[in-house]
Amino acid sequence: MLIDVKNITKGSSESVVWEGNVTLPQDYDNNEVSVKINGNITNTGEDRFSFNGMGEAEIKTKCDLCLKPVSVKCTFDMAEIFAKDSDDEGEWEYSDKILDLEPAIIANILLVYPMRVVCSEECKGLCHICGHDLNEGECGCDRTYIDPRFEKLRNVLDKEV
Ligand SMILES: [Zn+2]
Ligand SMILES: [Zn+2]
Repeated sequence: MLIDVKNITKGSSESVVWEGNVTLPQDYDNNEVSVKINGNITNTGEDRFSFNGMGEAEIKTKCDLCLKPVSVKCTFDMAEIFAKDSDDEGEWEYSDKILDLEPAIIANILLVYPMRVVCSEECKGLCHICGHDLNEGECGCDRTYIDPRFEKLRNVLDKEV
């Protein structure tokens, strides 16, 4: 998402409205995210531009419990500084009067990326024996089975009490 800033003179701003897709780093499953960005870019002088605005991302992912496709909407605020040939950690670098907003958008999405996604708070998940979606009813498996290693542990704990 490139912004040409050569016509933005010192002290003036331009509005930025953008809708498109960004790609998150590989370890995020389904890493194509559709994004809407709405903000202002300002030439603050000394080869610096600030971008202030807000974004809305729609992340298509899966329910952690039943694996059904779920899309999650996240919003985020952006307050970014772009500096020419900067190696300051708090600033994004640009060159040739072109700013690339995409790395800043991705960084903001990762900050609000949901740690846990469920299709509904009542999701019953999948049967761990047969894989049946328990939201659609019982499968008849006996899921009271306890791993023998835990059984042994339980005996140990019982003795200690
Ligand atoms: Zn679910
Ligand atoms: Zn089952």
